[in-house]
Amino acid sequence: MAGETPFSHRSRAAALESMQAQPVDLLVIGGGITGAAVARDAALRGFRTALVEAGDFGAGTSSRSSRLIHGGLRYLEAYDFRLVFEASRERRTLLRIAPHLVRPMRFLFPIYRGGRVPPWKLRAGMWLYDALAAFRNVHWHRWLSPAKTLAAEPGLRDRDLSGAALYWDGQTDDSRLVIATIRSAAQAGALAANYVAVTSFIRAEGRVVGAVIRDSLSGQEHLVRALTLVNATGPWVDRVRRLDDAGAKPLLRMSKGAHAIVRRERLGLHDAITIASPIDGRVMFVLPWNDLAFIGTTETEEDVRPEDVRATGADVTYLLRSANAVFPRARLTPNDVIATWAGLRPLLAPDRSLPAGKVSREHRIVESPSGLMTIAGGKLTTFRVMGRDVADRVAKRLRQHDGRPLPPRPATDQLPLPGGEIAALDVMMQSVRMKELPAVTARHLVDSYGTESAAILNLVSKNKVLGGPLVAGRPEIRAEVVYAVEREMALRVSDVLMRRLHLFYEDPQHGAGVAANVARKMAELLGWSSTRDDDEIGEYLEEVRKSREFLREVGRPSGVASASS
Ligand code: FAD
Repeated sequence: MAGETPFSHRSRAAALESMQAQPVDLLVIGGGITGAAVARDAALRGFRTALVEAGDFGAGTSSRSSRLIHGGLRYLEAYDFRLVFEASRERRTLLRIAPHLVRPMRFLFPIYRGGRVPPWKLRAGMWLYDALAAFRNVHWHRWLSPAKTLAAEPGLRDRDLSGAALYWDGQTDDSRLVIATIRSAAQAGALAANYVAVTSFIRAEGRVVGAVIRDSLSGQEHLVRALTLVNATGPWVDRVRRLDDAGAKPLLRMSKGAHAIVRRERLGLHDAITIASPIDGRVMFVLPWNDLAFIGTTETEEDVRPEDVRATGADVTYLLRSANAVFPRARLTPNDVIATWAGLRPLLAPDRSLPAGKVSREHRIVESPSGLMTIAGGKLTTFRVMGRDVADRVAKRLRQHDGRPLPPRPATDQLPLPGGEIAALDVMMQSVRMKELPAVTARHLVDSYGTESAAILNLVSKNKVLGGPLVAGRPEIRAEVVYAVEREMALRVSDVLMRRLHLFYEDPQHGAGVAANVARKMAELLGWSSTRDDDEIGEYLEEVRKSREFLREVGRPSGVASASS
């Protein structure tokens, strides 16, 4: 792939070498959406920026969201108007700078007599939602009569239905949004490496002046000197703050959210549906994703380590009961669940008197006495603003340090993310179709890679075999494995199957049937030994097994776990 911006194991090695060889202006700790946004903004200001991520980019919370770029209708109930205003503006910005990764989505919010949300409240909320978007959302909301609601969504419960609000929000591919943002940072000069954790800080005269980093793939430790350090580790921020100050009081409280995926046809789903769960009144979603439907999310406070969080049998039961109450003919059971995922919301609120669902999703930047900057809270939707706010602070700190002028804020709201250079996705679709790929594959490539699908087609032109499907009957093709390794820094089988492609979630076998093929191709590209090959496959299948544990917990047998083990 000569001539293209590299973002691979080779650029990773070069980045690690460079960040050890010379001090950086900024070391960003954490490669979720927040760290990615900070690195992008700082690198675009011309700061020598490095970013290290303990696992794979986005593997923390940022690949476990509801995948919505939304104003946050539900935050109106908490009178969080500032956040809704900001998030609505960001929705508009992201639809523009990443049209391939952020798509407008139509939502129906059906209202039932006797339900928790009365019609007058939803009507008022809808006007406010449009007003806070400065009446510049994709379309204004509308009201549907019960008959029109059922015509739009025939699977909905008709009993007690008094109508529905029809409104618009955005849907994204969260883990691909993280990769695109980090690649944008790298294009601006940021040095980025996944599978590299900060294990301790270096101090001089009471200030943090660098960090010891550990490469979990080689086992090697290195030292990085930095003028500023930003802790952007989401649910891990308190753990990292304690590396700096063992007595640091927690900033966060965690709220777990779980999702379950079922076949879309089971619900007959046309649009995204917002529901108030009949179990506890929580606002939740049933979201279409190709031929699947995501049901989520739960909101529970659990004392679980972020690395161990998963959807339990109880979570799945709650999600299915809520969905079945609104789609009564679906009669979903745990055996209908294709996959699940769960994450921890890093909420800013040690005050436990407020229920997690009512805690603001705003972000805050705090500085420790030693100078470690921590960004906590926030949402996927507002990542660009979070990055900008942190970079503003970094710029001031650097000016205090060596008197350099404050650079102008970069136009991160205008600069497209990689692949987002053209908004006319249908035109792009036609050029992809000319390569004689099936329509579903063309759609998948354009939706995932935007203008960069051209690079995948190049691979296919050079080697026709790479144009074949990765899993029979599915849209993903073999060239995407090569692309993930060469252009998206995928280093492990799970990076490819979970976060670059989504077979772990979307294929009923979780991609287990092709894990060996993917490992073989990666071994060839990355020079793995044969034992590494086997370890990778084994670890991937273990991930698959763990993700099916909920079935045992609700007392049902698991067909898939045995098929893949
Ligand atoms: P993370 O994505 O968790 O990234 C932190 C990273 O730091 C991790 O990858 C971790 O490996 C790394 N790290 C930890 N320790 C170290 C170390 N020592 N050295 C280096 N790296 C380290 N927001 C929306 O806008 N829309 C939604 O639809 C939405 N849905 C959600 C649904 C759920 C269930 C949840 C849990 C959240 C949802 N959110 C949503 C919120 C959003 O997902 C999060 O706010 C956001 O992803 C947090 O990103 P982050 O980068 O701060 O944290």
